[in-house]
Amino acid sequence: MAQLTPMMTQYLQIHEEVPDALLFFRMGDFYEMFFDDALTASRELEIALTGRDCGLEERAPMCGVPHHAAQNYITRLVEKGYKVAICEQMEDPKEAKGIVRREIIRVISPGTISEGKLLESKKNNYLMALFLENNTLGLASLDVSTGDFYVTQIEAKTREQWLSQLSDEIGRLLPAEVILNPALFKDSQALAMIENSFGILASLYPEKYFSVKNGSTRIIDQFEVFALGALDLERRDHAIAAAGALLLYLDETQKRALTHIKTIRYYNSKDYMVLDLSTRRNLELTQTLRTLEKKGSLLGVLDKTVTAMGGRTLRRWVEAPLLNRDSILARQGGVSAFYNNAAHLPAFKSMMTKVYDLERLCGKLSFGTINPRDLLALKQSLGALPLIRDFVELLGSQQLRSLFDTNDLLNDVWEHIEKAIDDQAPLVLKDGHVIKTGYHQEIDEFREAAEKGQDWIRDLECRERERTGIKNLKVKYNRIFGYFIEVTKSNFDQVPEDYIRKQTLANAERYFTPELKEMENKILGAQEGLLRCETQVFSEIRDGLLAEIPRIQQKAREVAELDAIYSLATVALQNRYVCPEITEDNTLLIQNGRHPVVEDMIGTNFFIGNDCTLNQDDQRMLIITGPNMAGKSTFIRQVAIITLMAQIGSFVPADAAAIGVVDRIFTRVGASDDLASGQSTFMVEMTEVANILKNATSRSLVILDEIGRGTSTFDGISIAWAVVEYLHNQDSIGAKTLFATHYHELTELETLKPGIKNFSIRLKDTPDGVIFLRKIIPGPADQSYGIEVAKLAGFPVGVTRRAQEILGHLESGEDTYRQELLVKEPTVLEGGKGAQLNFFDVTKGMTAEEEAALGVIREMKIDEMSP
Ligand code: ADP
Repeated sequence: MAQLTPMMTQYLQIHEEVPDALLFFRMGDFYEMFFDDALTASRELEIALTGRDCGLEERAPMCGVPHHAAQNYITRLVEKGYKVAICEQMEDPKEAKGIVRREIIRVISPGTISEGKLLESKKNNYLMALFLENNTLGLASLDVSTGDFYVTQIEAKTREQWLSQLSDEIGRLLPAEVILNPALFKDSQALAMIENSFGILASLYPEKYFSVKNGSTRIIDQFEVFALGALDLERRDHAIAAAGALLLYLDETQKRALTHIKTIRYYNSKDYMVLDLSTRRNLELTQTLRTLEKKGSLLGVLDKTVTAMGGRTLRRWVEAPLLNRDSILARQGGVSAFYNNAAHLPAFKSMMTKVYDLERLCGKLSFGTINPRDLLALKQSLGALPLIRDFVELLGSQQLRSLFDTNDLLNDVWEHIEKAIDDQAPLVLKDGHVIKTGYHQEIDEFREAAEKGQDWIRDLECRERERTGIKNLKVKYNRIFGYFIEVTKSNFDQVPEDYIRKQTLANAERYFTPELKEMENKILGAQEGLLRCETQVFSEIRDGLLAEIPRIQQKAREVAELDAIYSLATVALQNRYVCPEITEDNTLLIQNGRHPVVEDMIGTNFFIGNDCTLNQDDQRMLIITGPNMAGKSTFIRQVAIITLMAQIGSFVPADAAAIGVVDRIFTRVGASDDLASGQSTFMVEMTEVANILKNATSRSLVILDEIGRGTSTFDGISIAWAVVEYLHNQDSIGAKTLFATHYHELTELETLKPGIKNFSIRLKDTPDGVIFLRKIIPGPADQSYGIEVAKLAGFPVGVTRRAQEILGHLESGEDTYRQELLVKEPTVLEGGKGAQLNFFDVTKGMTAEEEAALGVIREMKIDEMSP
C-alpha cells in the first residue's frame, strides 16, 4: 500500500466497501476500472484494456467508459449478473485540495434496478433476503421498481424440508438477486441450488444486518406503524430479520429514499397451492421447458392483459393457485361478470390502454427520477378511473364491486396534475414549458418577460434590416456568444458605425449593440429565472405527490386485478372455455377436456377432447397405457392444468367440469437431466418421486409419466408397482392419480386393487401403419406400437424390419436370441434369471482396510455434496 499513488490508495479504500462489485471510479469525463475489475469489464464489455502507473513496479490494468455512455455499459454488466458500484467525484476538481473527494453513490445489481430496459414489464423483479436459523427460514422479497413487498417464514423440522420449500419459493418468485445470512451461505447445497440450478446472483450479507432488533426498528420506521403487530409480523422473528436486512441492504446500496415501499405483506404458504419446481416446470406454467419462453406456456395462452401491472398480477395468480373455495369463487365471479358482458369487453380494453404502469411510476416518484412526461402519464392513467368505475357499475357484479373501490378515484391527484403540468410538457425539465401558465405567478412573469424579449429580438431584426439596407441581416443566438447580429461578407460596407464586433467567421461577421446586450441580459435573466422557478415548482408538486403514493398503489392493485380478470374472461370467450363448478368433494369430473396450450398450437378443431373422472370410490387411479406419441402425456397434463386453472379462478377448456379443490398438484413427467446439480437422471427422478410420496395427501392430484424408466426394466416395473400401491392405498396416501406408463405389466393392478382403472388411447391399424385417434378409452392398450412409431419417425426400413424380427423371437421366448442380446446390452433384458446386479454384496474378499473405506463411502450423504 505504501508505494501506491494517493489516488490508487483512495481507489482501493473505496473498493473495500464493495468487495463484490465492479467499481466505476469517476475520473473527469470517464469511469475507470482497475486491476481485476478492469480485466473482467474489458472482457465482458469488449473494451480496450490499458494500464496506468499506480506507484507499483507494474502498471495497473485499466479500462474505462465515457460517463455519458455509462448507462449502457452498466446495463450490460448487470444483465450478466454483476454488481456495479458507481463512485463519483464529490467536489469540483478545480477547488479540491489534494485528491478529489470521491464516494460511492449507488450500487446497481440485478435485484435493485428500478427502471430501464432490464425490467420486463409483465414480470416482477425481486430482490430476496434469506435468513436461516435453527431450520427456520425467513424470506423477504421486494420488487424495488413497484414496491411489492412480501415476507414469510418456513418452519421446518429438518434441513431437507426447508431446502425443498425454499426451492419451491425461489422457483415461484424467481428473484433476480438473493442475499443470504452466513448460516445459509455456508450451506453448499442451498447455494448451489440458487446459483447453479436457478442461475441467480447470490451474495453473503453479514449476520449483524439480520438482527431482529434492528430489523424491527427499520421496518417500523419504513411503514410508519407503532408496532409490528400492525403489519402482521409480531413474533415472526425470522421474517423480521429477513425483511429488515433487505431494507438495510437497500439503504446501503441505493442511498436514496424508499418512499414508495408502503406495504409489506406477510403471506402464509398455506393460503395458496405450493407447486414444487418440477411440477411448475413440467406443466410449463410460465415458461416452456425447452425454450424457457413465455410463448408456449400456460401463461402465454392466458395472458391477454392490457397493462403491465395486470400482466404481473396474472403471473402471480398462475404461480400461486388458491386453496380456499370462497376465494376461488370470488375471483371466478369476477371472471363470469366479464364473460357475461362480452359485448363490453372491447370498451374495457380501450380504457385500459390508457393506463400506464402506475406501480413503476410510483417507484420513479419515490426515487425522484420522475419526469414531466411521467406525470402526464400518471394523469392520463388516473383519468381512466372514472370510466373504469362506470364499467364496474355497469357489470353490476358484487365481486367486482368489492374488488374496485368506487369511492376513491384519486380525482384530487388528477386535478392537481391537470392544473399544474402543461399538456405538451417535454421529457426533461430544462426544455421548459413544464408548468402550465396560470398555475404560478412568478413563472408566468418570467415567461412573459422572456417571450417579450423574443418579440423584441424579432422586431430588432426587421428594424435593422430597414435601417442598414442589408436584406439578409440576421439576429441569432448561440450558447457561447449569446445574441448577435450577423452580416455576410458581401455586405460589410453597409455595416453601421454603432455595431461592435463580436466574432469573425470565414464568410460573415458577428456584432452586437449596447441595446442588444441589454436585452440579452434581460432575456437570459428571465429564462434562467424561469428554469429555476419551474424546477422548484416541479419538485414541490413531486414532493406533494409522495404522500399520495399509498393511494395510487392501492388503485394500481385494483386496476391490475381487473385487468387480470379481464384477461381470463377474454381467453375463455376466445377459446370456448366453461366455468367449472368448484366443489368441496374429493373428485374431479372433466367432460371433453382439452389441453389449453396444445389446443392453441394445433387449433381447436384438431384437438380431440377427452373425459376424466377421478373419485374416491371406484376410480381413484387411472393407469394409462399406449405407445409413444399416442397422447398420454398430453392427457394427464391437461387434467392437472385444468384443475390448476380452476383454482386460480379461471374458466377451463372443457365442455363441463366439476373440480373438488385439491391441496397440491404433483407431477413427475419425462426424464430430465439436472446436470447443473450433478445428479444423475435416475437419481433426480427418484428424488422427485420420493418428494411426492412424502408430501401427497388424499386431497392431492398426482401425475406420473413413465416413472422407473431411468433404470432396468425389472427394477423399473418393481419401483413403479410399489409406488402405485403406496399412492393408491388409503392408509398411506390414497391420492387421485394419473399414471401413464409403458409397462404393460402394471395393467394387472386393476384386478388386484379396487379404485384402479386401466385406460388406453385408441389407435387405428391401417394398411399404411397406425393412426392415432387420441381418444381415451377404458381398458389397457393391447399392443406395443413402438416399432410402428419408429416407422413413422422415419427409421430405415431395414432397421424396423430387424426390430420386428427380434420382437417375434423375444415373444416366442427363444433363448438363443436372449443370449445374443444379453451379451450386447445386458441391462435391457437382465433380471429374467435373477441376474440383477447387487451393489451391496461386494464385500466378499475385501481386506479390512477396503471394507472400512467402504463404510466411509456408505456414510457419505451424496445428495448434500456438490459435484
Ligand atoms: P405420449 O405421451 O403418449 O408419447 P404425447 O402426449 O406427447 O404422447 O402426444 C404427442 C403429440 O400428439 C402431441 O405433441 C400433440 O401434438 C398430439 N396430441 C396429443 N393429444 C392430442 C389430442 N387429444 N388431440 C390432438 N392432438 C393430440
